[in-house]
Amino acid sequence: MDAGARSRLFLELDLTKDGKQTGFVRVPHSVHRSAYGWLPIPIACIKNGEGPRVLMMAGNHGDEWEGQLALGGLIRALDPSQVRGRVIILPSANFPAAQAGLRTSPIDDGNLNRSFPGDADGDVTRQIAFFIEHVLLPQCDYSIDLHSGGSSLMYIPSTLCRRDPDAAGMEKLLGMMRAFGAPLGWIGSALQGMDRTLTAASRRQGVISIGTELGGGGQVTPSVLKLAGEGVRRVLAHLGAYTGPVPATPPTRFLTMGGNDYYVYAPDGGVFEPLVELGDEVKRGQPAGRIHFHDTPWREPSVAHFERDGLVICKRVPGRSERGDCLFHLGTPYEA
Ligand code: ZN
Repeated sequence: MDAGARSRLFLELDLTKDGKQTGFVRVPHSVHRSAYGWLPIPIACIKNGEGPRVLMMAGNHGDEWEGQLALGGLIRALDPSQVRGRVIILPSANFPAAQAGLRTSPIDDGNLNRSFPGDADGDVTRQIAFFIEHVLLPQCDYSIDLHSGGSSLMYIPSTLCRRDPDAAGMEKLLGMMRAFGAPLGWIGSALQGMDRTLTAASRRQGVISIGTELGGGGQVTPSVLKLAGEGVRRVLAHLGAYTGPVPATPPTRFLTMGGNDYYVYAPDGGVFEPLVELGDEVKRGQPAGRIHFHDTPWREPSVAHFERDGLVICKRVPGRSERGDCLFHLGTPYEA
């Protein structure tokens, strides 16, 4: 029995059928108010003969709205005659989290992007991860996972991938990122604990995968939503899966994202005052932000410093912060 057959989730769509289908992945969920109920994860399949097989996904974190709206728009707009091969669209992958407007699921506290490879018999979030890794991904050649900063972070709109030691593989990833056309594209090394993400799941299943960090702040802006909608079409066209019109591609500046010294964390609990803006070039040792002790305002604020030179690509949004919260995140010039 193949691993996917162990999934308890039921897919309403037939992924082998040509045309546009919409419906739900049903997650069995027997609770007090609904003995035989299921949780509905929206999904669409748009297929036209043989060709590239692409998974477009968002809502891996429920409070990252830009990708969810862009993929909703793609479902409504894509006509099967404009598709070659098959596009599976999963706009709110962790639907219980999205419905609650939260990063993680209110049912089991599950962070879907830390739950792969999942568990067919696990809690709800792990069952969703298992279904994506073992049912959907083995039927795909490419995956695009649309994230943003969510409620706690704001990014300069970026695409991202994990560095591929194989030069030809790396060029494929860079090509997809160039096609998306975000202002920044960053290439990360495999970080600790990151074997539980969709990117890692894709790699395990032989699927070529890029992601995004589109904006954040738990909100949607016209410019970022426009980029998301155009970017997904440009990537599909680049892969040969979409033959409809695509707008011109803006340039992407490539950066590297490294380990701990690329991040600045709150040294204390208090109120965060940023001392730099997104897009600033900063130096090692430069003050990054101050944490104010609003419970004892006569105390001098605690200062967090950058541990290396770099470009500020991400910053924390909420004022109130706890020790260990990420305040900033840097990128440095990419070298192939
Ligand atoms: Zn995310």
